[in-house]
Amino acid sequence: MEKADTATIIIDSLRAQGYRITTLRCALVRLFTRSSAPLGALEITSSLEKEDVSVNKTTIYRELQFLVERSIIRELDFLEGKKRYEILSEHSRHHHLVCTNCSGITCVDVPNDLSSLHHALGTTHGFKVTHYVLEFFGLCFSCVSKGSCVKQ
Ligand SMILES: [Zn+2]
Ligand SMILES: [Zn+2]
Repeated sequence: MEKADTATIIIDSLRAQGYRITTLRCALVRLFTRSSAPLGALEITSSLEKEDVSVNKTTIYRELQFLVERSIIRELDFLEGKKRYEILSEHSRHHHLVCTNCSGITCVDVPNDLSSLHHALGTTHGFKVTHYVLEFFGLCFSCVSKGSCVKQ
């Protein structure tokens, strides 16, 4: 038997929970499962327009909140003054390389055993870490290459 794709599994599970599967809901789930990097509102809207899904900013925003609340996608803030969203999959414990020049974002797996740091914060400050945000900002390979060309 053919294995159902992630989007189908998510949509089936929403349907089983009694949620309505609208064209927008379906299109968003498919868009996020296809995308390899977090998407901003602008990219989401233009992708939906390409698929001829009638889009209304408020409706999209409400739908994104719905998917966030159900832990299907997560909201990310890369200090760009806007939110981005990405699918929450089984390998969601990853971080991001954020290019401050071209705004390109790459999802990366980073070995992040921070338990000793958590322990230190607990002993020094009596602070119990429940979660943390770890993203990396800098220049992507393409921007670094361009920069070095200019300098030479
Ligand atoms: Zn770049
Ligand atoms: Zn990511």
